[in-house]
Order: sequence, then structure tokens, then C-alpha cells
Amino acid sequence: MVSTALEVNSLRKTYPLWRQEDVIALQDVSFSVKEGEVVGLLGPNGAGKTTAIKCICGLITPDTGSITFFEQNSNNPAEHVSAVLEGNRNIYWRLTARENLEFFAGLQGRSGVDPEIRSILERFSLNKKENTPARKLSRGMQQKLALGCSLIRGTDLLLLDEPTLGLDVKTSRDLRRYILKLASKEGKTILLSSHDMNVVEDVCERVIIINNGEVMADDKVDNLKDLFNIHIYKFTLKGRYKLDDIEENFDISESKYINGKTRFKVALKSSDSFYRLIDELQKSEIRLEKVQNLDSHLEEIFMNIIENDGGSVT
Ligand code: ATP
Repeated sequence: MVSTALEVNSLRKTYPLWRQEDVIALQDVSFSVKEGEVVGLLGPNGAGKTTAIKCICGLITPDTGSITFFEQNSNNPAEHVSAVLEGNRNIYWRLTARENLEFFAGLQGRSGVDPEIRSILERFSLNKKENTPARKLSRGMQQKLALGCSLIRGTDLLLLDEPTLGLDVKTSRDLRRYILKLASKEGKTILLSSHDMNVVEDVCERVIIINNGEVMADDKVDNLKDLFNIHIYKFTLKGRYKLDDIEENFDISESKYINGKTRFKVALKSSDSFYRLIDELQKSEIRLEKVQNLDSHLEEIFMNIIENDGGSVT
């Protein structure tokens, strides 16, 4: 039976500020992650994602609430969790790539990990750099080494804060595939935060959206798509048009004029609004050439939830 890898219960975290009002980073955050799941933690800047991740890996203590790993009584995060945090402070600058891996394995009390270290260096194409100090690696290599260091600790739960930030297209794609493999083949449980919706859509089956320190949505990506029923259409118009009036009433993006045609995308929630838009185009004597129905994306759903931050859909 699949057990719960992580249970976060009513976390609240306030940062006291000198001579200013305290910042409430987490108000009352609860969620759980099953073993082997890859879950996305999403939210706009300042939503509380990093604070939640830091609480889970024991770097900061929440004011109230509890965190349980693998339904066990022992809740020492170091036993269960490795994290790659935002930024580049996950590895030791003066140590070489190999020394970093050895250090993090040792931290976990692991020995005889040489074959594993070799395999990680190879997997992340770092074998030629194994004796290079971390500070002399490129940003992408440092990020891969940070992930390697979290893997060598051998924990079953991985927390990845913005794992693909600063990576080139190929490395980011390789890393996504690798994250999926870690869950499907090695049974790792992964909680990942990212602002890149493509990354989240690629690897996460379920997302937890937080805003202002509260969970606004917690569901499978497909369910959220059904729930919000947002359709994205691509319109092609014959000629050059100013779309100011239409932009006032509709959620238009990527409008551009190329080769005698005006193109734009629009997110519509109901068939009513689709017909209203067609009406407006007709009234403005705009000549419509083509309408394409595109798949809705997580990004539109995310924007919808964040912009209507009134009621949650948990
Ligand atoms: P981002 O996407 O920008 O990384 P986030 O969702 O990770 O944002 P947090 O870094 O958790 O958000 O921040 C949540 C809130 O707590 C913000 O208002 C932030 O300014 C505040 N905060 C975070 N760390 C501290 C700190 N050490 N001292 C005071 N306030 C803090």
C-alpha cells in the first residue's frame, strides 16, 4: 500500500521585523504527498513556497503546526529529506565536485559510495570536472552538482526549489526526464517549486498552489483543467488592427502583426464569452481569417487562481 511520504499540518510561520509589522509568510498551510509522487508547489513571488520548504527540511522552525515523514514517529528531517534550495549555496565552493559528493554522503553517515559517486558524475556529465572546485563550475554545472549532492544522501524525499533556474534548454529537459525517472524507477518522492509552468506540467501530476501563505488549490493538473474549463483560442485577423477595446474586455496575450495579419491568443472561460468576442470583432468590422482552439495550459489556471484569490479550491 502506498503510504504518505510527507504530511504538513497547519503550518504557520511569521518573520519578526524590527520596528515593522511581522511578515506572516505561512498562515495555515496543510498538504500531504504520497510516496513516489512528484508534486509541484506553485505560487507568485512571496507566496511562502521557500518558507514551507525550509520548514520541511528543518532549516527554520514553524511557529505552529507539524510535519510528519513516512508516517513515522521519528521526525528528524535530516533522516528523510534532502533539499536543493533556491540559489547557489547548496554546495561548498572550495571543495571539488567529487569532494562535495563525498562530503554530503559522509554527512549522512554513508560509506562505500564510490560507485554511486561515479555514476552521479557521469549521469550529470560532470566526470571531466570531478576535480574542479565548485566555484569554478558553470551555473548549470553547480545546479547539477547540487542535485547530485542531494541524491548521494540517499533519502527517499527530495525537495527541489526552482531546480531548473538558470539551466540551458537541453540541461533543463534532461533534468526533467531525470526527475521523472527518480520517481518512477527509484520510487523517490519529490516536492518541487518552480515558476516555470512548462517544467511543472512536464513532471508534476499534482500541484499545490499557495498565495499569501495559504493553500489556494491542491489537485491533479488534469482536474484543475476540467474545473476551470478555460479554453485558449488563437485568432488570426486579415489586416492590421488595434485591439485596445477588445483588450479591455478580454484576456488577450501575444498580440502581433506579421505578414499582413494580426494574431493574438485569448483565454475564455465559457462559450458565451467566445460569442461575445466574435460579436465585438464583427461590430468593429474586423475581418476574421481563422480561429484555433488550443489546449489550455497550467499557466492560465494558475493566473486564474491567483487573480481571484478569494475562495480556495482545495
Ligand atoms: P519567491 O517565488 O519570490 O521565491 P516564495 O513563495 O518562495 O517567493 P518566501 O521566500 O517563502 O516566498 O517568502 C514569503 C514571505 O516571507 C515574503 O513576504 C518574504 O518577504 C518573507 N520572508 C521570507 N524570508 C524572510 C526573512 N528571512 N525575514 C523576513 N521576511 C522574510
